[in-house]
Amino acid sequence: MRPSFQTHLVNGVFEDPVLYVDFVFEKRALLFDAGNLRNLATRKLLRVSDVMISHAHMDHFADFDWLLRLMVGRDKTLRVFGPTGLIQRVEHKLNAYSWNLVHNYSDDFVVIVTELNSDSEAKRARFRCRDGFQQQPEGCIEICGGVIIDEPAFRVRAAIFEHDIPCLGYCLEEKQHVNVWKNRLAALQLPVGPWLRDLKQAVFESKSDDTLIRAWGVDNKLVSERFLPLGMLKKEILRVVAGQKIGYLVDIGYNELNRNKAIAVLHECDLLFIECAFMQEHADIAASRKHLTAQQAGLLAKAANAKQVIPIHFSPRYSDREHALRAEVEAALGMR
Ligand SMILES: [Zn+2]
Repeated sequence: MRPSFQTHLVNGVFEDPVLYVDFVFEKRALLFDAGNLRNLATRKLLRVSDVMISHAHMDHFADFDWLLRLMVGRDKTLRVFGPTGLIQRVEHKLNAYSWNLVHNYSDDFVVIVTELNSDSEAKRARFRCRDGFQQQPEGCIEICGGVIIDEPAFRVRAAIFEHDIPCLGYCLEEKQHVNVWKNRLAALQLPVGPWLRDLKQAVFESKSDDTLIRAWGVDNKLVSERFLPLGMLKKEILRVVAGQKIGYLVDIGYNELNRNKAIAVLHECDLLFIECAFMQEHADIAASRKHLTAQQAGLLAKAANAKQVIPIHFSPRYSDREHALRAEVEAALGMR
């Protein structure tokens, strides 16, 4: 299966956790947390459409300013999601700067912030560059099943965990994965081209099988086209399989409530990025700081039946014991 998303862990495991998820077929990316972003090229950061913030500790939120610096003056909308209080925090960050010249800009940059106040309710506000980033409240919105983004191709689910303060864990779910059989395309004398994107979109939108799809291509400056029913194309040239599920979980205490929530949200995810802040020998420190130990992270991932686990966010105190920390996760997962 060729995935539609490419994940990239931006920093080293002892540094700020930042997960960059690139769209393979689009110039777009999602960002999970925004601590140190300086290891990401500007062109990559400019692709970011949505930022999922776990919580506002500095190592997860500090470089929101850098993102702002790069995007101001561009015709762009950035959506930011996070826990209660995020709207005010973004407003404070925006208020830290003078915006007296922005009404002259020809392009408008818009930041839309959504803060999750409970599993069923969020609050939203908009900040427009040309208005000097004055807050425009948009009121409360209903959240269903923790789904904060719902697009034809994917959804992002958030859940509120306890880290002394609320901290959001996230799950990115590709709805369906649509592969094109290139050899069958050739056998039917159908061209490769942008129409395949429209075809996939029609599948994502669950259009009826008799919907006609325009299959077109350009050969020697001549445009050829055929109109074919979606149902026939699905049967002959597409393979539709379940999409991949990617989890991101950092900074949570190991208690029953967090554990049950994590297992439910991350159930059978293909790829799980999970914090392993401390070793089990320091479980008392982990508990007092509301973090997971490597063993707890491993047990949690195992209970959620995660297929692949990527340990992240190690405490720098283990900088010379990275191997031992990884071994602890693997042991808990039953790999050793
Ligand atoms: Zn934290």
